[in-house]
Amino acid sequence: MTQCALCEEELSTDPTNKHCDSEEHIFPNSVGGQRTVSGFLCRSCNSTTGETWDAELAEQMQALCLIIGVRRDRGTTPPLKVTTTEGENITLGSGLIDHSQKMTVAARATAEKKAVGQRS
Ligand SMILES: [Zn+2]
Repeated sequence: MTQCALCEEELSTDPTNKHCDSEEHIFPNSVGGQRTVSGFLCRSCNSTTGETWDAELAEQMQALCLIIGVRRDRGTTPPLKVTTTEGENITLGSGLIDHSQKMTVAARATAEKKAVGQRS
């Protein structure tokens, strides 16, 4: 009997059961993880962690993933609106930015996120 690592329910083989075994990315898909493991999390817990932990990590790593061009197992990194150090509003996304500006834009995006975090 294999149990879910989080809820400790027995992992089901019935696809209609919410505690059915699932494919969990070892590194989250949002940061380029492609390898998966089964027999670790039930579908319900995998879904919950995807909406909470993985979503938070994806948001925090979004600019870096766009700048270095992380390829996901499924889907693509969503575009991100940022302001350059020169005050220009641009959208980071695949093929949308001049490579010579990447570091300037990344530094500005990080500084802005920190500033917003310090205000709250
Ligand atoms: Zn579970």
